[in-house]
Amino acid sequence: MTAQLIDGVALARQWRARVAERAAALAARGHRPGLAVILVGDDPASQVYVRNKVKACGEAGIHSVLETYPASLTQDELLARIAALNADPTIHGILVQLPLPPHIDAQRVIEAIAPAKDVDGFHVANAGALLVGQRGYWPCTPYGCMKMLEHIGIELRGKHAVVIGRSNIVGKPMALLLLQANATVTICHSATANLAHHTRQADVIVAAVGRPRMLTADMVKPGAVVLDVGINRLPDGKLCGDVDFDAVREVAGWITPVPGGVGPMTIAMLLLNTVEAAERAAG
Ligand code: NAD
Repeated sequence: MTAQLIDGVALARQWRARVAERAAALAARGHRPGLAVILVGDDPASQVYVRNKVKACGEAGIHSVLETYPASLTQDELLARIAALNADPTIHGILVQLPLPPHIDAQRVIEAIAPAKDVDGFHVANAGALLVGQRGYWPCTPYGCMKMLEHIGIELRGKHAVVIGRSNIVGKPMALLLLQANATVTICHSATANLAHHTRQADVIVAAVGRPRMLTADMVKPGAVVLDVGINRLPDGKLCGDVDFDAVREVAGWITPVPGGVGPMTIAMLLLNTVEAAERAAG
């Protein structure tokens, strides 16, 4: 069996077009959506991510402001910028690119963002809303994964989903969203004994670890849906995911590639959250 490919580029294009329509409708009423992106330091991967996000905003008709600061920026200076953006009516979403330099407490910074402008969905108010099933902002990567599952038409009720990774930005919210969709969810992590025992029972696997090709074909049940969140740079400069793509695609029913899978959907969901924030602000 060769898995069907879930094309994140094509699906993200559809979502971006829908966002662009909503952004245009808002702009016509004098409420152009605005996103502020803050980058501190010169991490090369972060520079690529923020450039892509700003470019995607432009294409969707979302006004974006990119603020870049040297790694020497103090925490107080960063908090002051966030306070100013919280009060700026032209800005509906605020994104602080992680990781931050070690002298800045990332959680403190995230908590300083007004929850209504926290389009990354990392603020405890939004994390709590997700936990209790209220509508806040969902973190963009798990949100994009859910849209991919919706797109392929899988009924999650009663299915067994295994999430590998328990970070606050991917693994945990992913597990909560799958639970909300009535899947039976197992969360695996660095201390899980016998990972393969769990993954082999899964109808849906979401790999969010950051270890190249760690999910091998013998760990996957035939026909399973495999979503690969991992982004790993190999010594030859190429990107690969957490899934051994060539081998797993011979076993799985559906699979996402890296690049061209979850990554583009993450950006599309950032735009979606931003346009939603602007719609709420506009009433
Ligand atoms: P993280 O480092 O915060 O978390 C990694 C998780 O993997 C941890 O919870 C850890 O317990 C688990 N883990 C580590 N070793 C393991 C093992 N041997 N077996 C099982 N679990 C293990 O990373 P993150 O921020 O959640 O990101 C995970 C990956 O996803 C990274 O490669 C990151 O670059 C990528 N990512 C991609 C997108 C995207 O848009 N595609 C977005 C965010 C993160």
